[in-house]
Amino acid sequence: MKHDRRHFLRQGATLAAMASAATLSGCAVQPPRRSGVTPAALMGSGVPTLAPVKASPDRITGIYVCTRPFRAAGPRIELEKIGSKAVVHNYGHGGSGWSLSWGSGTLALELAMQTGARELGVIGCGALGLTTAILAQRAGLPVTIYAKQLPPDVFSMRASGLWTPDSRICDDAHAPALADRWETMARTSWRNYQSMLGLPGNPIQWIEGYSLSDYPRGQAPPDPVNDEPDYGEFHERVADLTPHSVDLPPGSLPFKQHYTRRYTTLMFNISTYAHMLVTDFLTAGGKIQVREFHHPGDLLALPEATLVNATGYGARALFGDESVIPVRGQTARLIPQPEVTYGLRTPHVSMVPRSDGLMVQVLDDHGQFNNADTTPVRAVSEEAVRSLASLFA
Ligand SMILES: Cc1cc2nc3c(=O)[nH]c(=O)nc-3n(C[C@H](O)[C@H](O)[C@H](O)COP(=O)(O)OP(=O)(O)OC[C@H]3O[C@@H](n4cnc5c(N)ncnc54)[C@H](O)[C@@H]3O)c2cc1C
Repeated sequence: MKHDRRHFLRQGATLAAMASAATLSGCAVQPPRRSGVTPAALMGSGVPTLAPVKASPDRITGIYVCTRPFRAAGPRIELEKIGSKAVVHNYGHGGSGWSLSWGSGTLALELAMQTGARELGVIGCGALGLTTAILAQRAGLPVTIYAKQLPPDVFSMRASGLWTPDSRICDDAHAPALADRWETMARTSWRNYQSMLGLPGNPIQWIEGYSLSDYPRGQAPPDPVNDEPDYGEFHERVADLTPHSVDLPPGSLPFKQHYTRRYTTLMFNISTYAHMLVTDFLTAGGKIQVREFHHPGDLLALPEATLVNATGYGARALFGDESVIPVRGQTARLIPQPEVTYGLRTPHVSMVPRSDGLMVQVLDDHGQFNNADTTPVRAVSEEAVRSLASLFA
């Protein structure tokens, strides 16, 4: 049963729990309140009118590939002494880096404060580096970020932009050991995100989306290709955070797929959001230096006694940590359509209605685990866009 869910869960069990009309419930233990149509659940929703997506390959504005920094044991958040420096590691967040960033940064900062830090150097300017740096500023520390690349050129900018706190976050065997810490991180992040709703440019917003399938819930055939591990799944631990997904009556939406499930979740408009984080950091007096480190010994030249290592997949090369496994992911962006306010997913493709473009991603591709190739394959994204177009045909 676990294997039946593997493909879908690698997209993020929390999102999966909310979204799946295709593969979940026949094999997952679902609390009764999360399934089924009740008059109360449908009240006020009616049959939505959905502005069509102009899904045409010539509207692709960019194709982006990045490697999720997956560790079987989950993120590395621990203190290491390197020569005279106290280095707090904060990397290895798989497909959940944005979602867990504030919670993970909070744990990393606690360790940094225990060293008696009066100032902090943060290595890395992605989701984890930026959020940890801002948390340190809020705790009263002067902070300098050192990174070889800055937004928009960091991997974090290539993410889908959804609340997916348990996407490829650890493997099944390590899940029990990570569970409590994961929940702490997820809940802390969640609280932080609530304070960013309604800000100019909508860096963070709620969306509704529709998961479409040819099969009733739990009756879709399993993915025959298993080339990723069984991932830890934690969504039940935070089931109280998001509204419950709702099975709409068959045929509710004008798509050829008969079965539809409506989900409600948080979306990160990553361009606006990352811009806001960088601006907030600089406005609070933060400094940024573009700098590349080739060996842990290079860190000894920095003036700060306490450092946070938020180098993501870069930690594999910099610290020789081969427990960081690249899980390749490719997204394409279509020209923004502000009138498209909903998300869509089928077993094959997902669309996220971000303000900087509609993010389109193939979901059922294989060969991505332990694949560090960041060369975009345009044909794959064009196929994803055509698959999206077929929904509106
Ligand atoms: C296709 C795809 C979709 C995703 N969707 C989501 C999603 O919807 N929600 C979600 O929560 N997560 C998602 N993720 C996961 C998320 O993108 C990552 O977990 C997150 O970006 C990791 O952030 P990071 O800050 O650790 O690493 P990075 O963004 O890679 O940042 C690392 C920083 O360290 C610097 N650095 C690295 N090595 C060195 C060095 N040697 N010297 C100096 N600087 C260095 C880099 O220049 C950069 O500034 C997705 C990932 C992929 C691939």
